[in-house]
Amino acid sequence: MTTPTASVAPAKPPGPEGLRPEGPLPTVTQAAVPFIEIETLRAREFLPAAREALTSLIAEQGQTKVIRPVFNWAGRNSLFPLHWGLACCAIEFAAAFGGRWDAERFGVVPRSSPRQCDLMIVNGTVTWKVAHKLITLYEQMPEPKWVIAMGNCATGGGPFRTAYSVVPGVDKLVPVDVYIAGCPPRPEAMLDGILKLEQLIRERKE
Ligand code: SF4
Repeated sequence: MTTPTASVAPAKPPGPEGLRPEGPLPTVTQAAVPFIEIETLRAREFLPAAREALTSLIAEQGQTKVIRPVFNWAGRNSLFPLHWGLACCAIEFAAAFGGRWDAERFGVVPRSSPRQCDLMIVNGTVTWKVAHKLITLYEQMPEPKWVIAMGNCATGGGPFRTAYSVVPGVDKLVPVDVYIAGCPPRPEAMLDGILKLEQLIRERKE
């Protein structure tokens, strides 16, 4: 009786003619272009060429016209919201960064220091007691910065609008760029608000 042994898969037939380059294919021991040469190419030729093209474009169209879209593109694709929560809407804020909605795929990465943030998402009831802290956090964020009022409480006080202790809308304290309705808004609504803010940043002129 013979013992079964592992078999080798038969060699694949060559592909259609004309799709393969002439001669032997390069192997790992025959590096066609050494890595260091590619790096040298980028440094010596690509960057000076890019600089020359950009300089002539700026001379032709003016600095603001050329640089502003680049800043807008970078800013809207790397929004850093402040990592904080005020009330029940903060649970939806947290859920938006979980595996199911994955807000980070839009380049939105929460940061825990206001000095590294350019977006404040006010996600809950703002009381007068916390108002001065909110303003301090906003002022610690560097320019340019944006604010999203997430949910009915942040937008206008929500179900607590008439309470003596509640700020009837966070726009009484800081300038708001986007309002998201709902009590609470779902994570999809928060993502929609972020996409609307990205649209605002895209159209920013100053
Ligand atoms: S809007 Fe509704 S869910 Fe959001 S903080 Fe206010 S009461 Fe809570």
